[in-house]
Amino acid sequence: MKAAQFIGKPLFEISEIDTPDCPDDGLLVRVHAGAICGTDLKIMKCQDVKIEKGKVTSMDIPRITCHELSGVIEQVGNKADGFKCGDKVVVAPTVPCLNCAMCEKGYHEMCMNVQVIGYHRDGGFAELLKVDHDVLASGCVVKVPDNVPLDAAALTEPLSCAVNCLELSPVSEGDSVLVMGAGPLGLMIADLARHLGAEKIFLADVVSEQLQKAKVSDIDAVIDLSNQDIEEEIDKLTDGLGADLVVTACPAPTAQQVAMKIVAKKGKVNFFGGLPRDSAIVELDTNLIHYKEITVVGTHGSAPRHVVQAVELQAEGKMNLGKYIEKTFPLDAINDALKVAQGKGRLKIIIKPNG
Ligand SMILES: [Zn+2]
Ligand SMILES: [Zn+2]
Repeated sequence: MKAAQFIGKPLFEISEIDTPDCPDDGLLVRVHAGAICGTDLKIMKCQDVKIEKGKVTSMDIPRITCHELSGVIEQVGNKADGFKCGDKVVVAPTVPCLNCAMCEKGYHEMCMNVQVIGYHRDGGFAELLKVDHDVLASGCVVKVPDNVPLDAAALTEPLSCAVNCLELSPVSEGDSVLVMGAGPLGLMIADLARHLGAEKIFLADVVSEQLQKAKVSDIDAVIDLSNQDIEEEIDKLTDGLGADLVVTACPAPTAQQVAMKIVAKKGKVNFFGGLPRDSAIVELDTNLIHYKEITVVGTHGSAPRHVVQAVELQAEGKMNLGKYIEKTFPLDAINDALKVAQGKGRLKIIIKPNG
């Protein structure tokens, strides 16, 4: 089969590799669409993989990346139940062990032995994806109903992270929400917050081109940080109260600092976006947390149950993920696609390994 493998250089190599065998107690999935995520770009730039003496040490290479994918079941192992050939599915990439202390508490997204598809094992930038038994057993393969387009379903994983975000920092009817960072995930969080009852949604970004893309979402006010003062704008927009929830969906330490100032008393701040390692020590005025009784939480990834919820939101017509897709590329053009994905002001870029 054809696959795009990360080989430890900044580029992916398209090659013809052996088609994986379908495990007896697993599945083989024909990949319909795989979305490029910031993680793939980090891997490409070797930012999140350790390189020692010119070798990648924390991720085995060659590796087929891509953890945001949809597909159709091609083959079912004779000891695997619950699925049949032709079923449309998404695969939750975070595979919990179900045995560790975190898994026992039900915090599957915090599994201490987590295996990530597209990082620890091969992911979706290939014609076929082998699904091992542990992936099936932990509920990572989720059926997609016919009314959900498979291109859009490739974005189920990012939506599941938005679901986890708003589970950890819930909105109430009538709340005001500020999302800092107008990337596709920021937009998904904004749209999901609206669906969950938030009344006013604001979106801020320092990149004007990215804010242009926010037109796909229903935003009440857009704040261009390149020429507007966020404290002044939020003050005006909330009659001096501050936003009930501020989500930092960007890798900027200043966003975390400013979030504390513009969140309402009794409000919530969610550090959704991680920071680059070398800028993760941030000076925060913790008296703001104390005097305003702010709740500060973080969100990292999602568990299979969030993926199930993300599929339901699409099936019920509450979230339409197709609108976040900017462009589609064939697998052969993956390096061009990765270049486009790094440009300013992008929605999601999709790879179609089977054309
Ligand atoms: Zn991702
Ligand atoms: Zn575990």
